[in-house]
Amino acid sequence: MKYQFKAHPTVFEGVQYRSRLEATWAAFFTYMDWSFVYEPFDLQGWVPDFVLRGRSVSRPKWMKAKTFAALGGKKWGSREILVEVKPSWNHFDQSYKDTILCATDIDAKILLLTQFEDRPYDEYQCWDGFGGLLLERWQDEDGEQGQENDDAALAHCIVCKQTTIISASGGWGCRLCGAYDGDGLIHPCEYYTINPLDVWKQAKNATQWRGY
Ligand SMILES: [Zn+2]
Repeated sequence: MKYQFKAHPTVFEGVQYRSRLEATWAAFFTYMDWSFVYEPFDLQGWVPDFVLRGRSVSRPKWMKAKTFAALGGKKWGSREILVEVKPSWNHFDQSYKDTILCATDIDAKILLLTQFEDRPYDEYQCWDGFGGLLLERWQDEDGEQGQENDDAALAHCIVCKQTTIISASGGWGCRLCGAYDGDGLIHPCEYYTINPLDVWKQAKNATQWRGY
């Protein structure tokens, strides 16, 4: 079934977005201090709405150089997440996901977003869901390939020092820098420096319809 939504082009910080929802997510990324580019490139059959880019990270002062090297620290910060925003989940059926997966590289990380949803994902771990779905492709050393499809959650990464995106029940590595939870680098949400729900409200406010 196709749903028709009338998109209101909306400006945020000098950039015009095709819809208010896209502008609101752009505002959310901005206030979360996540680095992003709107419509970064065309892929074969799919144009991502955004790419989120990990900020460059250097070795934390408290971490020994040897540990940093062993954890793959040289590669931290180089991560990218491709983002697609749609008004509702009806848009993200399997054929749409297949189109995206066909268009992307073997190790692509894709975040599907509709609206921010405030819900604790896991009370024990205190990961917060925020209404995103992570679609990820992977390839191991033996060349075996696969894909994961899991709720995205928010947590605090002590390497890139920000609230970051993890997979709620899969790999808990920081998707914005590559630091891994198993190494004690990803912390639950009581470590947040900012409250994501407040950030979303602020983003909604900044992009509300003003009748022009
Ligand atoms: Zn990180």
